[in-house]
Amino acid sequence: MKDAKSDDKNWKQAKNKTTADSTPSLDFIRTIIEEDLNTNKNDGRVHTRFPPEPNGYLHIGHAKSICLNFGLATEYKGLCNLRFDDTNPSKEEAEYVESIKEDVRWLGFDWGNRLFYASDYFEQLYKYAVQLIKVGKAYVCDLSAEEIREYRGTLTEPGKDSPYRNRSIEENLDLFERMRAGEFEDGSRVLRAKIDMASPNLNMRDPVMYRILHAVHHRTGDKWCIYPTYDWAHGQSDSIEGITHSICTLEFEDHRPLYDWFLDQLGVFHTQQIEFARLNLSYTMMSKRKLLQLVEEGHVAGWDDPRMPTISGLRRRGYTPESIRDFCDRIGVAKRESIVDIALLEHCLRLDLNKRAPRVMAVLRPLRVIIDNYPEGRVEELDAENNPEDSSMGTRKIPFSRELYIERDDFREDPPKKFFRLSPGREVRLKHAYYIKCERVVKDEQTGEVIELRCTYDPETRGGWSKDGRMVKGTLHWVSVPHSLKAEVRLYNHLFVKEDPADESEGADFKTYLNPKSLEILFSCRVEPSLADAKPGSRCQFLRQGYFCVDSVDSSRHRLVFNCTVPLRDTWAKIEKAQKRS
Ligand code: ATP
Ligand code: MG
Repeated sequence: MKDAKSDDKNWKQAKNKTTADSTPSLDFIRTIIEEDLNTNKNDGRVHTRFPPEPNGYLHIGHAKSICLNFGLATEYKGLCNLRFDDTNPSKEEAEYVESIKEDVRWLGFDWGNRLFYASDYFEQLYKYAVQLIKVGKAYVCDLSAEEIREYRGTLTEPGKDSPYRNRSIEENLDLFERMRAGEFEDGSRVLRAKIDMASPNLNMRDPVMYRILHAVHHRTGDKWCIYPTYDWAHGQSDSIEGITHSICTLEFEDHRPLYDWFLDQLGVFHTQQIEFARLNLSYTMMSKRKLLQLVEEGHVAGWDDPRMPTISGLRRRGYTPESIRDFCDRIGVAKRESIVDIALLEHCLRLDLNKRAPRVMAVLRPLRVIIDNYPEGRVEELDAENNPEDSSMGTRKIPFSRELYIERDDFREDPPKKFFRLSPGREVRLKHAYYIKCERVVKDEQTGEVIELRCTYDPETRGGWSKDGRMVKGTLHWVSVPHSLKAEVRLYNHLFVKEDPADESEGADFKTYLNPKSLEILFSCRVEPSLADAKPGSRCQFLRQGYFCVDSVDSSRHRLVFNCTVPLRDTWAKIEKAQKRS
């Protein structure tokens, strides 16, 4: 689905938003809102809501909706409610409610004292239903779920009236009351709106408003055994809260006539529903149902597994709320579905972390280096800047000694062309330290594996600069063997190997596209001693490698665990550069 064109479109959207010298054009939602403000519709109020169903953890797609709804409220000096759409008792759990609140707060938004639940309105919704029955606009129907489907007809054929459609108002009132009282079994009856079985819009063919379900609800307990459908609950909840603009995703476009019909029949405050395209992100997926499957079947370590596109997963991975908000801002809102390149999200993250993350040295795959002409037992404390992007972040001391670790990848016995790092006879700079030269390679006698390098250093190059102007091409990071700390580092890759894993059109289940290499754990990494007190969740840049954060779940004083938040290499910046050139 995603092609060069959609890349192009994403980039243009991003550019639109970021060009400082041109006023960004209003998106279609802001255009509607500004028109409403101009005509003083709703007395100039802007009131939105974010309505999650508490049946899973929030994902980055929800972040788009959160940023949009709360963002509009801020921009237009309005309000945004957090409303749990908890109409489905069997699927909802209090754990999800708590996680959703935490995630919205973490993203930087505040619902003030406006935390609501659709279940708060069960009594009012019941009264509204009675009101519709009394004017002959709703009836109790005894058809089974399957029969209702059969009677509904298809896109090309009109539906058939239910044999119960012409029940008297008195009979409907009586039956509905007894439905509520618990006299009937699950699935034996429903309440339906009486609209038009021949409507070209299937949603208008006498949709179900209530079903019988003897289930315990996380807030109302066993008070109710009839539960409203989404269509019946949502618009009326919006109206009760005085929501002016009810922003939802495109799949509800066909439900809008029904949304409007209910509000018109009841004659209550009429919220306007506006639909926008949901966020899809390459190499991952946004369906809560499918994400739940990954958790339950153990394909990931939990909802907050750092590979998950959930807010809690991104947080544990080391994402900042600022970078996610920036991303949502850049992708903007549109009416057409597309897949956004995950590289754009990573690009926003790098931009943010580049400014704030202190630089440190860590060796992920250590190779021992002995500096033969450096006195045994001597230790020097060298100065290192914490962030070249921000001098106010200061400097720190790093210990240098005779025994060091460098990255195994930074040495080649037979260097190919353009390999400017260490090799026999070659001189390189150790960051913040000295020039060193590789004099000899020590190998394991049995396996032939390189196990140690014997080097010399030039004392005249302290700080990493030679006084005689001698240049070297490579600069390596390193740590001192006796001072370094042991650490476990987790490297991540896309969760799926397919760009659009949710697309099961080739007949394969989405899980067949799981990336077997999405997690690589390195157990014998070495990091500089300044990280001894790094707090869980804190972030830093491992020089030349990427941004990392201390894992908030598994890391402790005795076991340092880092997650790779994002490597330094920025594929999005490359795309952008190419676009600018063309
Ligand atoms: P899922 O498809 O992941 O199960 P959902 O739409 O059922 O999601 P809700 O809890 O009902 O999840 O969603 C709350 C709000 O977030 C809704 O207004 C919904 O339209 C919006 N939303 C959900 N997914 C996305 C997405 N990918 N992009 C933008 N908005 C989304
Ligand atoms: Mg939903």
